[in-house]
Amino acid sequence: MSLTLYNTLTRELQTFKPLIPGKAGFYGCGPTVYNYAHIGNLRAYVTHDILSRTLRRSGLELYHVMNITDVGHLSGDNDEGDDKMLKSAEERGKSVLEVADFYTQAFFHDTERLNIKKPNVICKATGHISDMIALIKRIEDNGYTYFSGGNLYFDISKFPHYGELARLRLSGLKAGARTGVDGNKRNPEDFVLWFTKSKFENQALVWESPWGKGYPGWHIECSAMSIKYLGEQFDIHAGGIDHINIHHTNEIAQSEAATGKHPWVQFWLHNEFLVLDKGKMSKASGGFITLQSLVDAGYDPLDYRYFLLGAHYRSPLQFSWESLDGARNARKALLDRLRALADKAGSIKNPGSGIDRESGAGAYLAAFDRAIEDDLSTPRALAEMWRLLRDTKLESSEALAVVFEMDSVLGLNLKADAEGAAELSAEFVQEIEELITQRSAAKKVKDFARADAIRQSLKERGIILEDGPGGTRWRRS
Ligand code: AMP
Ligand code: ZN
Repeated sequence: MSLTLYNTLTRELQTFKPLIPGKAGFYGCGPTVYNYAHIGNLRAYVTHDILSRTLRRSGLELYHVMNITDVGHLSGDNDEGDDKMLKSAEERGKSVLEVADFYTQAFFHDTERLNIKKPNVICKATGHISDMIALIKRIEDNGYTYFSGGNLYFDISKFPHYGELARLRLSGLKAGARTGVDGNKRNPEDFVLWFTKSKFENQALVWESPWGKGYPGWHIECSAMSIKYLGEQFDIHAGGIDHINIHHTNEIAQSEAATGKHPWVQFWLHNEFLVLDKGKMSKASGGFITLQSLVDAGYDPLDYRYFLLGAHYRSPLQFSWESLDGARNARKALLDRLRALADKAGSIKNPGSGIDRESGAGAYLAAFDRAIEDDLSTPRALAEMWRLLRDTKLESSEALAVVFEMDSVLGLNLKADAEGAAELSAEFVQEIEELITQRSAAKKVKDFARADAIRQSLKERGIILEDGPGGTRWRRS
């Protein structure tokens, strides 16, 4: 297998070669847990999931690390604006940690529904303050910092590689000469490593440090935690394109200033944005779409996953309900086709083993692998799967075996879904539909005890009912 990835650092497609043969170390920037993830954020995590699954499929032993940001992230990535966690806690009348816990759980509920595999390590910023302080100390000892106005800053003029990832042309202006920039900064691009004099009077979370009581800047958490779990140099770091100019640029500066090793990370991968007709989807501006709002509108979370796979991760993707409908119909057609194949094959459980990659269905698998290994081209990979499904000359059990193999990367849960639906008898499906009708009638006359009893009895038989504006839908638990 030869995996090619687009590396933002070199702006080129490069063959992926891990630093340690047979292993891959991957750090993906995780969510800031002050609100629900919107479906744009979830695009980033589906991309990370496709990458992880591809690395594993290529035979590598993957070590995937993701952080949870629960402190230090201001609304401007360059130390300006409100503290996102604090503002959210105040608005909701909760503590910062309550808010963080709630939205962390909501995040994992979403990623599970999208069939995203959990990283090997999930690390919270607030659980790693001592690692951050130790890393900042190394940066300070190496002469890259200054203390000003109560905060410890990183001095970018001391770091010759600054801005290489983003190909930044530095302004060269004194910070004070530019309006809106923190006057304590020597250069406009300098950034805070440690805040001691909080900008916010009621800062909830503070820790003792060599620079006084305070809290870390946002960027240091990713440097500290990735180095802790993956070592001073590792293979891949990923996030959305909005992170290139500031967050990832600053992470590189801090990490290399601390360790003296260059390059810190071999491959930088960035997903493009999901956009609405109105433009960028943003957590802070509100009015964003969550996965739950798609479920409430009657979609299966995997319809959204299918929708995302239809675009390459480096292309901007416009969200619309019409295109989501298209994805839903395509996924339904896919499941129907699999069930038909399963019927023909007799059993879906043992679809055959030993795939010959030279001929028959196996040749489609080889083409699928070539597509996914070409910078994770999910649209082409999906097209290869459809080519196979349309080939009526193939032996059914072999075709199924290959589709399930492809799904180890696509993550559409095809085996379980096809199996689930294939195994339900027509009589049972009819009974479910009848019970749903009876339950709606009970609800109409406010007989909620009866409605709940129906829901419960179906649950005990492995059927979950989900109510939405379009009516009640059922699925297997
Ligand atoms: P945050 O929770 O704001 O730190 O963002 C989580 C991840 O979502 C980051 O990798 C962002 O780069 C990414 N992201 C934010 N907005 C979008 C969007 N509209 N489309 C795709 N990725 C996004
Ligand atoms: Zn990060």
